[in-house]
Amino acid sequence: MIPLEEARQFVLGSCSALAPRSVLLDDALGCVLGVPIVASEPVPPFTNSSMDGYALRAQDTRGAPVSLEVVGSISAGRPFDATVKAGQAVRIMTGAPLPPGADAVVMIEETRALGSTVTIEREIQAGDFVRQSGLDVAVGELVAEAGTVLTPAYLGVLADQGVTSVVVHPRPRVGVLSSGDELVEAPGPLLPGKIRDANRHTLLALSRREGWECVDLGIVGDDEAAIVDVLTHAATICDAVVTSGGVSVGDHDLVRVVLEKLSARTMRWMQVAIRPAKPLAFGTFPDTGTPVFGLPGNPVSAMVSFELFVRPALRILSGYRSLDRPIVAAVAEADVRRRPDGKLHLLRARVTLDRLGTWRVTTAQRQESHQLHAMAKANALALIPDGTGVPAGDSIKVMLIDPDELATVPLELS
Ligand code: AMP
Ligand code: MG
Repeated sequence: MIPLEEARQFVLGSCSALAPRSVLLDDALGCVLGVPIVASEPVPPFTNSSMDGYALRAQDTRGAPVSLEVVGSISAGRPFDATVKAGQAVRIMTGAPLPPGADAVVMIEETRALGSTVTIEREIQAGDFVRQSGLDVAVGELVAEAGTVLTPAYLGVLADQGVTSVVVHPRPRVGVLSSGDELVEAPGPLLPGKIRDANRHTLLALSRREGWECVDLGIVGDDEAAIVDVLTHAATICDAVVTSGGVSVGDHDLVRVVLEKLSARTMRWMQVAIRPAKPLAFGTFPDTGTPVFGLPGNPVSAMVSFELFVRPALRILSGYRSLDRPIVAAVAEADVRRRPDGKLHLLRARVTLDRLGTWRVTTAQRQESHQLHAMAKANALALIPDGTGVPAGDSIKVMLIDPDELATVPLELS
């Protein structure tokens, strides 16, 4: 067995970011910028009002209340050329350009209009309710450096710059394959000895959730020639290939055998010192450099292996710098018992944040690697180092694998 960190170093060290290319701005959510973007336009593009009210000269409100002559009205999108002179005010709407001569805005709630005059109730300071041009983004300012993850806010910031396409690391195209003679796809009754293919659906969904492009490679039987065919083809159309099953030490674990033959020099079959997900086959195809992950077949193992290896590796392909799920320290709600076996255990668990801001964790009853239902109910993996476990009340490290599902579901485990 090799330590998890060594296995991760081998896998992650074999991966590099996909070459940046131009994509439409609206297709770039979650992508990583390949080039820096410097502002060519100020934001706001012109000085404007942040309130519905009156634009005026602040000095005219000395000794308020004062009465000013209303000489016009300006709404957003419609500039006003006339200059505001002493004793004058202009009705102005939020977002409308501040007219020449005016240096402040008074909100409508602090005025009283009467015919063509308006009474200003209190003294106004220059700059009140005025949004200066360039005070969000100035021309020449670095709005996003290379490596920035394009969040919805960044898409808006770039749209503000008139950007319609951006140079980003593309979303990896990932092929997902299930292997095993026992696997069948719904619908229909199961024949003796057959099981339904769960992993492909899980792994495709995990990939889709990351925003990657997915290629469903289907199911392949325990047949060396067929596995060679599908993997060789997949390597030419995908940036990464993820398989499950066939990487253990059984007589029909042929994915490992095929990967060893196809990528003899780069391939490593590893027994990682973790439970679940001990076996892992990983290599890069010689011609294309496409990484191939041979994940174990047990559904929980496949998912855990995805979290520990596939997700961070494909985040490298995507240009991300932060690779891993957050890990927090959580208080164990009950004793967590385990046997020493030289492995790090990653237990299916639920964490919640209590009202005082303390993370609390409960581990599931069903911890076998085929018990996918317990994984479905989990939102975290509790990391229990080798030894005999942890008593209730102790702090343990917990990897948050479902950050969107943290506080919403009550603590209840099978
Ligand atoms: P293997 O790694 O091929 O020895 O498979 C380990 C266990 O996982 C066996 O019980 C398989 O039947 C099961 N398994 C393999 N692939 C899948 C899959 N795609 N969906 C559900 N179970 C699977
Ligand atoms: Mg198998």
